[in-house]
Amino acid sequence: MTRQLRVAVVGAGPAGIYASDILTKAELPEEFSGVTVDIIDRDPTPFGLIRYGVAPDHPRIKEIIKALYRVMGNEDIRFFGNVDYGTDLKLDNLQLFYDAVIFATGARRDRDLDIPGIDLRGSFGAADFVYWYDGHPDVEREWDFQPHAETVAVLGVGNVGLDIARILAKTADELHVTEIPDNVYEGLKKNATKDVHVFARRGPAQVKFTPMELRELSHSPNIDVIVHPEGFELDEGSMDAIKASKSQKLVVDVLQNYLAKEETGAAHRIHIHFCQNPVEVLGEDGQVVGLRTEITELDGTGNVKGTGEFKDWPVQAVYRAIGYYSDNLSGLPFDLANGVVPNDGGRVIEIDGSPLPGAYVTGWIKRGPVGLIGHTKSDAAETIRLLMEDLDSLVAPEHAEREAFDRYLDSRGIEYTTWAGWEKLDAHERALGDAHTVDRERVKVVPRDAMVRIARD
Ligand code: NAP
Repeated sequence: MTRQLRVAVVGAGPAGIYASDILTKAELPEEFSGVTVDIIDRDPTPFGLIRYGVAPDHPRIKEIIKALYRVMGNEDIRFFGNVDYGTDLKLDNLQLFYDAVIFATGARRDRDLDIPGIDLRGSFGAADFVYWYDGHPDVEREWDFQPHAETVAVLGVGNVGLDIARILAKTADELHVTEIPDNVYEGLKKNATKDVHVFARRGPAQVKFTPMELRELSHSPNIDVIVHPEGFELDEGSMDAIKASKSQKLVVDVLQNYLAKEETGAAHRIHIHFCQNPVEVLGEDGQVVGLRTEITELDGTGNVKGTGEFKDWPVQAVYRAIGYYSDNLSGLPFDLANGVVPNDGGRVIEIDGSPLPGAYVTGWIKRGPVGLIGHTKSDAAETIRLLMEDLDSLVAPEHAEREAFDRYLDSRGIEYTTWAGWEKLDAHERALGDAHTVDRERVKVVPRDAMVRIARD
């Protein structure tokens, strides 16, 4: 007798959707008549960081969304939103219904920066700010913009740092044409930022920006991009880095162009500084009043060493964009140093090296929070290949029929959303966009209960 292979994917971001797509196209042994996949997500909506991570002024990502829509249209793949792994269910619950569970939960928290003053009022994590401007339901609706905070520091020179700097430097009206929720538009009107200082602890050839994102920084008529010459050095290690990577060379070229450019007198400025390692957030009365950096110098290997010389920058807010960190998942081992689930090519392994049968990872929870969205495809392909190799050893679930999982969620009173529900919410948000006089593709609904109500209506 043949049966369906049943797989649960935890996380409906690109990593989880790509893995589901590859899985449904995989060649199966004869004992399986096919594969059906259920994607579970704690958000009531699919798409993970595409909805709650990509900056609202980056619409070109829409092409990726189109591809993900096509995958989700496959009837062998179902979506269960508003289901929180760890609270609503755990690995042993899922194993009652599925042969295998793939975790694609990404990384949603800010990596800690352990320097004095980091907890002062006015010191923020990039991930929190991104969640706020992207309208995530689980964050406060108001951002703590303070009227005196005209000069702001961004720590870290990755693309998240660029997103933060750009959103802070743009005007609320420039962003109003995007899908930002109403509370975010109203909040951004209170943003007093005029100067954003972005700090790299290493040199120009070591920044993690990508060329297109860096070039785009100057596209706003309201923003001047100013690259400061101090620390703009290209030592031997930097020349090697440029030779080894076309993209890194392009980034350095763009930085050099900014360096040579005259200011236009735009109302807002983004400054980029090199070889400044943040060592303390300075405070007064519990409030950020400055940032102290140690000046560094390149050591010829791509790394830097401190010079023992410090510089204080008068800033009224600090945003750290020094990388994301994944959540520790219930029932799975966790590598605290790297913020990932220990794995071998995607097979989850216990700390002692033994495999955790039937559990797999893909995306940022597998390899850490680096790489562009497209990179998760090759990741997913590797994980699915290993899952296919393991089919003989997987334990068949007690309740293999598809509807058993729906009944389980219903019996637990979990108000899950589905793909059909997302289509309703999608139509609702697009209608909200149409109602505006300016051309807006959608306006996001923010409160979780409102999203669930519309999706389950
Ligand atoms: P990232 O690219 O790893 O950049 C993190 C930055 O933080 C680096 O410049 C790093 O410097 C710096 N940093 C780390 N620890 C620090 C410390 N203690 N003090 C000072 N600086 C520190 O991470 P990300 O910006 O979070 O981006 C994550 C991934 O998402 C990346 O692959 C990115 O390209 C992608 N992404 C893409 C877009 C897009 O528009 N295409 C948008 C957002 C994110 P060091 O290099 O010296 O460690």
